[in-house]
Parts: sequence; structure tokens; C-alpha cells
Amino acid sequence: MMGYAHSAAGISGSLALAAYLGYVSPEAYLLAAVAGALGGIAPDIDVKDQEEGAEVTDGSRPRLAVIGLIAIGLIEDRALNYGILATVTQTPRTALFGLIIFVILLLVGHCTAHRTFAHSLLFAVLTAGCIFAICPSMVAYYLVGFLLHLILDMLNNEYNHHGIWLLYPIKSGDGIALGLCRAGRTGNKVFYFIGIGMFIAFSALYITKFNSINDTVPLFVILAYVLVSFHFVRTQSESEQRHIMHINGEL
Ligand SMILES: [Zn+2]
Repeated sequence: MMGYAHSAAGISGSLALAAYLGYVSPEAYLLAAVAGALGGIAPDIDVKDQEEGAEVTDGSRPRLAVIGLIAIGLIEDRALNYGILATVTQTPRTALFGLIIFVILLLVGHCTAHRTFAHSLLFAVLTAGCIFAICPSMVAYYLVGFLLHLILDMLNNEYNHHGIWLLYPIKSGDGIALGLCRAGRTGNKVFYFIGIGMFIAFSALYITKFNSINDTVPLFVILAYVLVSFHFVRTQSESEQRHIMHINGEL
């Protein structure tokens, strides 16, 4: 699966969790959307643009889209006094320590081979620990996005002759690769639209629970940003994919 499909799945999965737990406030919507997207994209920190062969092409664009979503979340939190950043700054040393280790882990993950360390339960636990240190209320949504990423990647064909080794660095066989989908192909598109469709449906559910324009407008800003930015990332990625398939003689 491609990064934008994973982030769409992460957002919808974390909003489903928030709704299931009864958290239907504007703050919960923002937290779930941001943390779910971050968890959804985090394992693909090991994707290198144009460097690991023709199958991997969209490393940076979905990451930038998620960084933009985080920025919108921070602005909304500050402007509307949701108090999320305020809880982070209550324990500044712990949060800063978590952030530094998180960045180091991402850098290490980026240097490792695709679908190895960054696609493991070890990486999930380590990065979730950092997210917990930064903002404890984000960690469940982050993990939902991360674990959905691993599950969707298990549906793929093998990459570089192996699948997902959940217990990496322990490698059992060739890892899990069920061979039902290929990154950037039809299965990816199907899961992307399921994720986006669920995101729109959960956004509509939240809107019905809000009773003021001050709550609804920030939700629409996040919804519109995700729909537009992910659409841009997907169309760019798909045009690259068509180019690759053309080179490979598949088109
Ligand atoms: Zn992946």
C-alpha cells in the first residue's frame, strides 16, 4: 500500500476507536485524525524516494501531507484553546525527551531497509512510548494507525523477497506477505477509498454531535485539508505508477 492509503486508513481507524469509546468532542476528532494519520504513515519512514527501485515512488509527499495536518492541528488547538498542547507543556522535559527519541527513531528507521525495522512491533512499541511521553492521549490513535499499516502491508506481495517480519530483528522465514495486493495497484486504491469513505462518514457523525459553528468549522478545515492534500498525493503517485508500468511493458 502507498503512504496516502495507509494514512487514510489510520485516520478512519482512529476515528472509529474514538467514536467507539464515546469521545466525540472537537478535541477528540483533532487528536484522532492527527495521531491516526501519523501512526498510519510512520512505518513507511523507511521508504526512499526513487532509490529502492521502481516499486517505491511516493516517500515524501504523503509525509509532507501528514506534517501539514499536524501543523493545522497545532494551529486549531492554539486558536481554539483545546488544551492539547497545554497538556504537553505541563511536562516539558518528558515531552522534549520523547520528541527527541521519536525523531532519532525515525532517522534510524529511514536508514533501514524497506519493511524491516520500521515495519515491526518493536518499532511500534518504541515510537508509541515516545508518543506517550509527548502526549499520552494520542498513543491509542497512533497505535491504531500503525497496526492498520502493518495489517494492510501483510496483504501485499513480497518486497525484496520478503514480507513483514512482525518480530524483527527476529526473522521467521520470508515474513508475512499474503500476495493479495501490490503497492500502487487496484487493492491500494480500494483500501484508500474505503479509508476516505469511512473518514467522511465519521466526520459526518461528529458533525451531528456538535452544536456550535465554532466546533464544526475546525472539523471542516481538517476534512477539506485531508481530502484535497491526499487527492493530490494519490493522483501524483498514480501518474508515476502508470509511468513505471509503461516502462515495465505492463501498459
Ligand atoms: Zn509500509
